[in-house]
Amino acid sequence: MAFIVGENCIKCKYTDCVEVCPVDCFYEGPNFLVIHPDECIDCALCEPECPANAIFSEDEVPEDQQEFIELNAELAEVWPNITEKKDSLPDAEEWDGKEGKLEMLER
Ligand code: SF4
Ligand code: SF4
Repeated sequence: MAFIVGENCIKCKYTDCVEVCPVDCFYEGPNFLVIHPDECIDCALCEPECPANAIFSEDEVPEDQQEFIELNAELAEVWPNITEKKDSLPDAEEWDGKEGKLEMLER
């Protein structure tokens, strides 16, 4: 099992999560982060760090975000690793909590 980054990270990308991950298994795209499922050790440290509440244990991913399980696995193979916090996207607060952000995911 692994932890999964879900929809509310899209267009926010606060990156607080990457600072606490003991195995550096976050990967960064233009407006979203993902967790590599084969590298995550299920420690749960990142989940409370996310200001957008976008991180879920794989067995607690909401029904309407199930596709993010596959999306994390797929994008973690192609995006670069991120291990240090950086500034969130400029309009992160405005997008926090908005629904339907999946179509805005940039690859
Ligand atoms: S802290 Fe949350 S919103 Fe920020 S990059 Fe990590 S998962 Fe995404
Ligand atoms: S659960 Fe632990 S190992 Fe997995 S992504 Fe979060 S901090 Fe990293």
